[in-house]
Amino acid sequence: MNTARNQRLSGYIQSVAPSPTMAITAKAAALRREGVDVIALSAGEPDFDTPEHIKDAAKQALDEGFTKYTSPPSGIPDLKQAVSRKFVRDNGLEYASDEIIINNGAKHSLALAVAAVLNPGDEMIIPTPYWVTFTEQPRLVGAASVIVETTAETGLKLTPEALHEAITPRTRMVLINSPSNPSGAVYTRQELAALGEVILHHDLYVLGDEIYEKLIYDGAEHVSMAQISPDLQARTIIVNGVSKTYAMTGWRIGYAAGPRDVIALMDKAQSQTISHPSSISQKGAVAALNGPQDMVETMRLEYDRRRRFMVERLNALAGVYCDLPLGAFYVYPDVSSYFGRTGAGRPLADSSDICDYLLDEARVACVPGVAFGTSSHIRMSYATSMENLVQAMDRIALALEKVA
Ligand SMILES: *Cc1c(COP(=O)(O)O)cnc(C)c1O
Repeated sequence: MNTARNQRLSGYIQSVAPSPTMAITAKAAALRREGVDVIALSAGEPDFDTPEHIKDAAKQALDEGFTKYTSPPSGIPDLKQAVSRKFVRDNGLEYASDEIIINNGAKHSLALAVAAVLNPGDEMIIPTPYWVTFTEQPRLVGAASVIVETTAETGLKLTPEALHEAITPRTRMVLINSPSNPSGAVYTRQELAALGEVILHHDLYVLGDEIYEKLIYDGAEHVSMAQISPDLQARTIIVNGVSKTYAMTGWRIGYAAGPRDVIALMDKAQSQTISHPSSISQKGAVAALNGPQDMVETMRLEYDRRRRFMVERLNALAGVYCDLPLGAFYVYPDVSSYFGRTGAGRPLADSSDICDYLLDEARVACVPGVAFGTSSHIRMSYATSMENLVQAMDRIALALEKVA
């Protein structure tokens, strides 16, 4: 019932769209409950277990009674130091302890960075295809997401020209997610340098989501906008975390590094909302960052094998085109040649219809590209066993052959 009271609930939060990946996940889960064997390529998390030495560190934290509030709210000193060392080791970037914050997952780091930089009415530029969360976080603080289309010609990457055209007097920040979820695209140093010139010219901030830094293939190099120049480092907030690299999604540890004044505001917002991330998880993250890194490479090699398998099988399908992604754990094939045809008697008008058809007919769950702002594609995660992938691709091939 609408009353004067509930009609005045937060307009900002009401403007946030629910996650479109939830709908397909819910449908797949419902089918599975009915006993239908559905292969989910819709999830965005590693299928590996968290490495043992990381679990041991958390167990030790429990046994030693490291189960109380921790201080400071921005993260325990050993973890901030581990993060600082990681930036030196992997990125050649120096950050002092007050330029680093530990948060409750990288998604939380992104939300706090957005809240720290944007005022109501400000604009953040987000290139397509984008992770579903990017466009919604600015709305939480009354700011706007400005979506910039990219094209297949530029490998679904933002160009300086397109960026320049999208900038208005309200633009405050540009989002760069490399390696990209969902496309797997990786920005080169030259591409970042060219974008960086526009960013410097307009004095903007950069929000760099680098959560897939370690999942990178074919000798591609991960480069952060902060590495391009000290001027750009001063304008870049890097967000990273342990979820994807160390198969630690449930531990909820992400971190950010950036200009001191921005980090200080993120710290203030964090301390007045969640206080600090879990004490036990922080100890696990210290072990992840400081411990042996060989498991990261083992997982990367397995993802790489699956990536090549998926791209080969997809490109062997009539009317499907898939670029070889250089990062993350998704393939993002273009399936638009199926639009306007019919599957199981129903019209296939867009990527949502294709995903519905694949779920009903092949019992494989994929995410439609419309969820990421490009209509021609579907996203498939290969963070699942090779056995599942082989079966999924066999079933998809059969289902697509039946399309009239
Ligand atoms: C998974 C993911 C995150 C969130 O990571 P958490 O640390 O688990 O919150 C952030 N950005 C992108 C692009 C992701 O795919």
